[in-house]
Amino acid sequence: MADTQQPSDIARETLRQLALRRTPPTPDNYRTLYHEIAGTAAAETFPERALKALSAGLPRATQEQMRFARQIDTAVGEGSWDAIKATLTELLNKTAAAPPNWSGLIRDLLSQYEARHAGTTPAKKREALEHVLAASGTPDILFTRLQSLVRNWAQGIAAEGALTDAAAPGAAAGGAPAADGRPISAELQELLAQLLVNTLSVLLGDTPELNKEAAGLAADIRAAATAEQIAAFTGRLKKFSYRLQFVAEDQAELRGALLHLLQLIIENISELVVDDRWLQGQVSVVRELVGQPLSLRQLDDVERRMKDLIYKQSNLKRNLSDAQERLKAMLASFVDRLADFASTTGEYHERIGVCADKISKSNDITELSDVLDVVMQETRTVQLAAQRSRDELLEMRARVQEAEQEVARLQDELAQTSEMVRHDTLTGALNRKGMDEAIEREVGRARRRNSAMCVAMLDIDNFKRINDSFGHDVGDQALVHLAQVVRETLRPQDTLARYGGEEFVIILADTALDDAVNAMVRVQRELTRKFFMHRNEKLLITFSCGVAELGAEEAPPGAIKRADQAMYLAKRAGKNRVVAA
Ligand code: GH3
Ligand code: MG
Ligand code: MG
Repeated sequence: MADTQQPSDIARETLRQLALRRTPPTPDNYRTLYHEIAGTAAAETFPERALKALSAGLPRATQEQMRFARQIDTAVGEGSWDAIKATLTELLNKTAAAPPNWSGLIRDLLSQYEARHAGTTPAKKREALEHVLAASGTPDILFTRLQSLVRNWAQGIAAEGALTDAAAPGAAAGGAPAADGRPISAELQELLAQLLVNTLSVLLGDTPELNKEAAGLAADIRAAATAEQIAAFTGRLKKFSYRLQFVAEDQAELRGALLHLLQLIIENISELVVDDRWLQGQVSVVRELVGQPLSLRQLDDVERRMKDLIYKQSNLKRNLSDAQERLKAMLASFVDRLADFASTTGEYHERIGVCADKISKSNDITELSDVLDVVMQETRTVQLAAQRSRDELLEMRARVQEAEQEVARLQDELAQTSEMVRHDTLTGALNRKGMDEAIEREVGRARRRNSAMCVAMLDIDNFKRINDSFGHDVGDQALVHLAQVVRETLRPQDTLARYGGEEFVIILADTALDDAVNAMVRVQRELTRKFFMHRNEKLLITFSCGVAELGAEEAPPGAIKRADQAMYLAKRAGKNRVVAA
């Protein structure tokens, strides 16, 4: 760098360097380079700390304030003066917005007040105006309500309509009379009554008091024939709906708390049963369920699946403990036999001892021969006992081994049924959990081998019609049939999973998009050949299908979502077709 000490030299050198470096000669660039050359390097930095402290001190009491403070936070975080400026400008523009034009409004009010309007009278106008004045708490609210009152008069609409947004109990209901001369149509009256009695009574089962009030209101609206009666009803309905809102909030809260409690219990059970594989399996199904938005259909599904599983597992557990009991009983009799044998040989020794005694004392050969007979007999008895015990022990050992094998087999089977939690019991396809695991496996394999992989999402067409026409059980059998045809038509390495009610996901390993589409079309064709039979009647099942190839960087849920969207397009395009994502 040149020897530059004088400000004018530095300035000249700065300009020269700007040109040399082809840097645009903006003030900022000039300043930076100037400091660089002068060695002062006091380039201005963004005062982030100070600004952060400032924005931390901003008021955040209202939504608007919060939004403003958040915008400033972001702008400071990005170090952007432009964003700060834009936010401040917006704020200032807002506060400087034109003040309410009261004089204009009052002028309009007076002229509309004095004008004659169909559908309302001066008395009604005065009443409505009094309502607005009494019910509007702040100048802003008063301004907007007066504005809409004036607008309604000008449009010839009954003045009281202006109050519909106000919580003004007892406000008179008006409106043009229905054709039959009633203030509102009889049909609407009846609908309101039905809503109150039929619909709300179900929702208000837990609050008899409100339920009674709903019934009272329904009776009133059914009986109402004059504008006054309708007005009285409107007032009560408003109060009622206000209280209803609290009940609804309470119920939502209660439901949330119950779900939370359930989750807590499930978490705790799974902590307690770390060693119990089959219980773990069941717990994970329930946990999965609780994590999703609840629907009756889904609860039903899980209940059925859990019942199957619990039944099977309790059977297996009973068999297992039976086998273990048998084993114990055999070991006990084994020990008894040993004791018997020991006592038999004990007696033998005693008797032989007696004989030996007799032998030593005898001096007569016939006496000795008698003794020898006894000895021979005793020995034979012992020999037989020993032989019998040996045979029995051998047999018992074989039976113990058998029982041990049985126990091992049952334990194995038990472990396998806990695997069943990965399968849908109706169709035998994988369930969601099984599918997630399978996809993970397949994605891993595809990425290692650098091969393509597709997912297909299929949804049976007009399945409700099958259920409605032939019953739910036939619908179930149709699902089983479909699953079977899919499995028979696709390759063994393709995986079928039940994604939801009548929706299935198929994981097509090592398959590019075109081939996957062809495979699914093949399944469709097979379904037109292998009919689903019901009472000797052929029922044609068709489905709509979307296929997506997993992108190089894509996570499986992304591909499933694209397949689902393509399936939706297939439905929209007329169903019974396969669409590539
Ligand atoms: P779309 O062609 O638009 O798919 O028409 P859809 O009738 O199939 O309509 P939708 O998907 O809305 O309805 C699915 C029906 O499937 C609703 C539900 O009662 C039924 N369903 C879901 N799961 C089962 C099941 O396990 N067994 C039986 N029998 N029916 C089921
Ligand atoms: Mg569906
Ligand atoms: Mg469907």
